[in-house]
Amino acid sequence: MEGKLYILSGPSGAGKGTVCKQLLKEMPELVLSISMTTRKPRADEAEGISYFFVDKETFLHTKEEGGLLECAQHFDNYYGTPRHFVMDNLHDGKNVILEIEPVGALQVKAKVPESILIFLTVPSKNDLIERLKVRGSETEESIKKRMEKAEIELNQMEKYDYVVVNDTVENAVNQIKDIIGRKN
Ligand code: 5GP
Repeated sequence: MEGKLYILSGPSGAGKGTVCKQLLKEMPELVLSISMTTRKPRADEAEGISYFFVDKETFLHTKEEGGLLECAQHFDNYYGTPRHFVMDNLHDGKNVILEIEPVGALQVKAKVPESILIFLTVPSKNDLIERLKVRGSETEESIKKRMEKAEIELNQMEKYDYVVVNDTVENAVNQIKDIIGRKN
């Protein structure tokens, strides 16, 4: 039997990365798709574990060859999901999870309608601003841009199969585990 494809998405600052990491600790059988990006690696990131870090030319070439299940530009960088890894694991009966931004998430849903879209959000817009500030890497200008993007993304919530409010990581992870445990 084919595995199921779960897409964890939502605005930047909602805590997708943290929630996904904890979810994978608690559900090690879930397979995480490693994305390709043109962004430069951060200090704590490793090639092939955090991302496949590539230049723009390689990214666009992979896209043209049909190697990406979805892709999107997020601020100044490109991000995409390598198609074969996801499809091979699904064919092997494994459940796969993507942790991606909303433009790409909706592309996957259009291509793989049986995929399960989970929207991770925060209790209020103020929480988003606070979380972006806590990151420390964001300037006033970039917080403003991220909030404008988040506004658009929050309006797309109804296109998702499930909405999970990230009030605490534990609650969010438990809700997602519940969703995965269901016969969707
Ligand atoms: P970061 O640069 O902070 O690692 O990620 C920036 C954003 O890109 C996050 O919202 C993350 O979920 C999203 N992202 C990571 N990989 C992919 C991908 O393969 N496709 C899409 N569409 N977004 C991605």
